[in-house]
Amino acid sequence: MSNKYQLPNQARIFQNWVGGTWKPSASGKTFNRISPGHGQEVGQYPLSQEEDTIEAIQVAKASFEQGLWKDMSGIDRSKIVGRVAEIIRQRSEELALIECLESGKPISQAQDEMEWAAGIWDFAATMCRHIQGGANTNLGPDMTVMTIKEPAGVVGMITPWNFPLLIISQKLPFALAAGCSAVIKPSEMTPGTTLLLGEICQQAGVPDGVVNVLSGYGNPVGTTLSSHADIDMVTFTGSTQVGRMIAKSAADTLKKVELELGGKNPQLVFPDADLDVLVDAVVFGIFFNMGECCNSGSRIIIHESLKEAFVEKVVAHAKKMKFGDPLDPTVKMGAIINQQQCDKIMHYIHSGEEQGARLVLGGRKLDTPDGLFIEPTIFADVSPEMDIAKEEIFGPVLSVITFSTTEEAIAIANGTEFGLSSGVWTKDINTAMMVSRKIVAGTVWINNWMSGFPEVPFGGMKQSGLGRELGVHSVDEYLETKSILIQTNPTAG
Ligand code: NAD
Repeated sequence: MSNKYQLPNQARIFQNWVGGTWKPSASGKTFNRISPGHGQEVGQYPLSQEEDTIEAIQVAKASFEQGLWKDMSGIDRSKIVGRVAEIIRQRSEELALIECLESGKPISQAQDEMEWAAGIWDFAATMCRHIQGGANTNLGPDMTVMTIKEPAGVVGMITPWNFPLLIISQKLPFALAAGCSAVIKPSEMTPGTTLLLGEICQQAGVPDGVVNVLSGYGNPVGTTLSSHADIDMVTFTGSTQVGRMIAKSAADTLKKVELELGGKNPQLVFPDADLDVLVDAVVFGIFFNMGECCNSGSRIIIHESLKEAFVEKVVAHAKKMKFGDPLDPTVKMGAIINQQQCDKIMHYIHSGEEQGARLVLGGRKLDTPDGLFIEPTIFADVSPEMDIAKEEIFGPVLSVITFSTTEEAIAIANGTEFGLSSGVWTKDINTAMMVSRKIVAGTVWINNWMSGFPEVPFGGMKQSGLGRELGVHSVDEYLETKSILIQTNPTAG
């Protein structure tokens, strides 16, 4: 089978997307990206500074005040948002290749992600037509109150490197549905597809200046977005540590803040669980995107009676997974994003061994000349107080913990600072529902892991975030409510 995806001969040159046109940074400086799977330069991007960011904010603000987008009817906005989905599909091979090269993720997965992203734009297109307020005539005969919905204004969007186009697609189409303008800063490691999304929005009919994208580092581009008075709202996906910094920096200008942060997601396995279905889901859940996934199913909390059978099956299954060159369409696990992340993952693997967990699979970084690869790794006999059981590793490392009573399982599940996603495996609906109600997490999957739909809200509790993305209410995050009180008989007032 020939592979239509090849490593390009030279790096692709990108520009910022501001005011409907490609622009270099004001300083002319650039930075580059080395593909973690190949060790070769694959992209060159403008190194934006505070000056570039402020210019983009002013462009977005002018577009908002001009009203070309916010005052357009929902019917027309819906057509345009829907066309973005079509263009993402038309350009999906180009976009998937960029993401595969920049991030090291397998090409087949990158392709799937383009379809997921397009599906979210499809859904958001329908939301454009459902923005409406309410009326209250229950306040006496002479008082009519209208509550109307208005766009929040200019939204700063800051995104991570693990699912670049998918994550911006959980934000931008809903902000556009609400009528907002945006300035977007993708991760410095994977900016390519988000920069192209600016152009795609223009091709679909979004007026110039409404969507602006800058490449650059958290400081100064992200910090300027979170602190600037002309940014009305900031939405961020990334680490809990940076999320806290963003919330603090946004406080001085009291902007709306939406945060999608880290996770250490538990799956609770009860004695009647179907082990074969479970093992499939566990291997997918922990090794998908090399474990660099906020939803990674990194903690298996399993009844002690199942432990040995489960460990044997999960190791056998994980051994079958093909890992290697991200451009190979049959590969399921590609490269780790960068050396720093590799070092962090290896630090946790060593800490697991030192703190007494039993390494039953993997545990090594492979010394390939051009790539950053870590073997699928599984630890058994993990106890809840070990670092590998509590902290987000963001790598292909599974921890297997046992329990004897349901109360103990729930306490272990809730025993970290995170509350993003969770799972329950049992055939007993009473157990499934009782446990689901007691787990502190934004999502509970029962007898499955990581199914997702644009219709279903997603987000975290505790230190995993603030607010929700997706679902019919996600547009509300980008809206303000205004109350208009009308005295219809002034003499009665
Ligand atoms: P990160 O927090 O290091 O960076 C995210 C973004 O913030 C990048 O664009 C970065 O340049 C920017 N940034 C860095 N410092 C900043 C600052 N001081 N001010 C403003 N912006 C700043 O995260 P990452 O390493 O790119 O991504 C991994 C993390 O993202 C993990 O913790 C993961 O769990 C989380 N994540 C969460 C979700 C979710 O939906 N909950 C989804 C994906 C990833």
